[in-house]
Amino acid sequence: MRFDTILIGGGLASLVCGIKLQRAGQKCLIVSAGQNALHFSSGTFGLLGRLPDGTAVSNPLEELGKLPGTHPYSKIGPVKVSEYAAEVKDFFNSCGVRLHGVAAQEGSEVSPNGYRLTPMGVLQPSWLAMEDVTLLPSKDELKWRKALIVNFYGFLDFNASFIAEGLWKIGVESRVETVKIEDVETLRKNPADMRSVGVARLMAKEKNWKDFGGMVRGLLSGEDLVIVPAVFGFGDQVIVEWLREMIPADVMFIGTMPPSVPGIRTQILLKKAFESAGGTFLPGDTALDPLFSGTSVAGIHTANLGSIVLSADRYVLASGNLFGKGLEATPNRVYEPVFGLDTDFPADRSKWCDPDFFALQEFAGFGVLCDDSFKAFKDGRTVDNLYVAGAEVGGCNPLYEGSGAGVSIMTAMSVADSILHGN
Ligand SMILES: Cc1cc2nc3c(=O)[nH]c(=O)nc-3n(C[C@H](O)[C@H](O)[C@H](O)COP(=O)(O)OP(=O)(O)OC[C@H]3O[C@@H](n4cnc5c(N)ncnc54)[C@H](O)[C@@H]3O)c2cc1C
Repeated sequence: MRFDTILIGGGLASLVCGIKLQRAGQKCLIVSAGQNALHFSSGTFGLLGRLPDGTAVSNPLEELGKLPGTHPYSKIGPVKVSEYAAEVKDFFNSCGVRLHGVAAQEGSEVSPNGYRLTPMGVLQPSWLAMEDVTLLPSKDELKWRKALIVNFYGFLDFNASFIAEGLWKIGVESRVETVKIEDVETLRKNPADMRSVGVARLMAKEKNWKDFGGMVRGLLSGEDLVIVPAVFGFGDQVIVEWLREMIPADVMFIGTMPPSVPGIRTQILLKKAFESAGGTFLPGDTALDPLFSGTSVAGIHTANLGSIVLSADRYVLASGNLFGKGLEATPNRVYEPVFGLDTDFPADRSKWCDPDFFALQEFAGFGVLCDDSFKAFKDGRTVDNLYVAGAEVGGCNPLYEGSGAGVSIMTAMSVADSILHGN
């Protein structure tokens, strides 16, 4: 089977790149082994929350020049990153994913980074947010005085008391209530079923979300903010909008323990957009055993298709890093398992991770070595037709910098442009 471009990985980077290529007239295949980071998403996209030296960033586009030359944003170039940033909202909107926040305001005194309230009740910088996630314009000026936090009875994956504690610390008087929805109660028979996805499936029934909204309304006692778990709406944002309209206070949806319902919704909508543009998505299959012709990839096999060779003019490796299994590690070595590409990691094993959980963790920045157009290196030479995108790209530590989605989106857009312009 022959395609213009084969993309390996079904996460944010692969989908953004695949949609761009497919919409530009290419014939693309995405091979996706399994779950991706969107299934664990906070519901927000980070562009740059702090510099590698730890300095906090409030206006990412103004700080790009301070990044090292090996950083993916430096390879793309600050001007191009700003151009892509300005396109992001329209691009996602065209896929049915409505994002809010300030996407691009180069040179402005207003900070594009907003702040999201985490499930621990702490404010964290974020660039853009999915529809149901609230972004505050500043971490110092909260507009609410009193908050009501509502959880489902027995739902342990949403820690309402952490949130309440965090809010008290930043001056918002908070109280916690629980509600019982008969259908959701049935999940409690088996604790393994009482997870965000199980609750979200039941809350998709109109009677349940309407009952929930009514109960929350009844509990209100002068609060100007209501916080509920983000378990509403896999396919669209209709329930979120309805709850926001019917509850007479600001309604904030806060992420639960994974899986992430807003993240899964985004993945579903992006996959739909890729397929509607004519792309082929091969779920639950793993790319392996590539064929090489000189310094080019000539084809790949997959675990399910046996001896059938899938070939294309160009290949994009967007298989995540250690988390997505795009990289694997032995006690002394970090390697890329599909093509055997060159990887970037410290030889000194003791530097891989820090016992202080909150310190910079080097392993989160391991990636594949690539040139300035994200063509991968193998044995010190670029592979002519193999690009790397997303978390698999080395040269930055997205976890530390708060740049995860930004790096995925920017590298995906850049790789798509390189392919379309024949670079
Ligand atoms: C747990 C977690 C939560 C995160 N939350 C956020 C957040 O809230 N906001 C933010 O900005 N960033 C977040 N990030 C950063 C994240 O890396 C990026 O946001 C982005 O989603 C990564 O996308 P990706 O497509 O590059 O990789 P991934 O999402 O990791 O996707 C890689 C995909 O490749 C597949 N794959 C791997 N090997 C093969 C193979 N051989 N064949 C076929 N498929 C293969 C995997 O199964 C997976 O589907 C998070 C990261 C993690 C790990």
